[in-house]
Amino acid sequence: MKYLDEYRDAAGAKKLAAQLRRVATRPWTLMEVCGGQTHAIIKFGIDELLPPGIELVHGPGCPVCVTPVEIIDKAIEIARRRGVIFCSFGDMLRVPGSNGDLLSAKADGHDVRIVYSPLDAVRLAAANPDREVVFFAVGFETTAPANAMAVAQAHQRGLKNFSLLVSHVLVPPAIESLMASQRSRVQAFLAAGHVCTIMGVEEYKPLAERFRVPIVVTGFEPLDILQGVLMAVTQLEEGRAEVENQYARSVRPEGNRPAQALIREIFEVADRKWRGIGEIPRSGLRLREPYRMYDAESKFGVASITREEATECISGLIMQGLKKPLDCPAFGTRCTPETPLGATMVSSEGACAAYYRYRRAVNSTT
Ligand code: SF4
Repeated sequence: MKYLDEYRDAAGAKKLAAQLRRVATRPWTLMEVCGGQTHAIIKFGIDELLPPGIELVHGPGCPVCVTPVEIIDKAIEIARRRGVIFCSFGDMLRVPGSNGDLLSAKADGHDVRIVYSPLDAVRLAAANPDREVVFFAVGFETTAPANAMAVAQAHQRGLKNFSLLVSHVLVPPAIESLMASQRSRVQAFLAAGHVCTIMGVEEYKPLAERFRVPIVVTGFEPLDILQGVLMAVTQLEEGRAEVENQYARSVRPEGNRPAQALIREIFEVADRKWRGIGEIPRSGLRLREPYRMYDAESKFGVASITREEATECISGLIMQGLKKPLDCPAFGTRCTPETPLGATMVSSEGACAAYYRYRRAVNSTT
């Protein structure tokens, strides 16, 4: 297949679903790790095409959703400082902290700007030498190379008024934490194709082996996802637990080595808190010692801010595959995209937002 339409072809989807019905002899629970996959699944009704008993649960793969409340609070605190230009991707602006969001800080007259790349923030720093420019560096392995590049560029240009508020997270430790939990229902994973485009597939092999769990690197179009499910279920039925690559058109086994080298040059692995889930050892990135001068937490003295999360939102359970958005009593009533109680309703990749957008009509008629 060469064109996007071919990956959305209804006849091809039906064929894969029929193949799946022939292969599956018993119920299995699979987790798609990436929020982009969750949206495609709900939008195209892929879960409804699966044979009875083959269940997809939604993982912690939305960067906005897993950014902890206390980092949002730190972002707001920095954004409210005099002389600061606080830069972020747009979807972070409405994520609730413990008392407000970045959009409120902007509405109060503070200089909060939406940018499309961390390199835009570097350019802003160069153009505004009398201001402090901070970029909110969230996301998985996919966004880390661009953030690393921003630090490298600021360093080369000798910019002293640029920094990153870093909240990077890594996928393999999250899979490890999910599988190590007694409560886990997950029997196979669809790993996020774009993360593997950067990191390759090698780091998943020890996890597949240790937890005897199939991991299929999967793309984002409906036929990608159905094929990923078919490959994972085939492994489960055959008693195999291997790493397979459904998304070979983008993912090379070794990944993107220059991008990996850049990440390693600028960042090092560190423990990281995940919103709704808690701290996962060695599951994040922080700036390495030679680049700590670009660390906004130290620069603005906000590293000690800690916050407990409100308990009403069950997004942590949703992102661990233990609940679904429609199980949440607040869904669609007290929690909507206009009045979100949790990040999974705010983010364009959040599971609750996907159900709200594509399933609410169905739900309200049942
Ligand atoms: S519906 Fe709202 S409150 Fe419920 S889990 Fe989703 S984001 Fe949290």
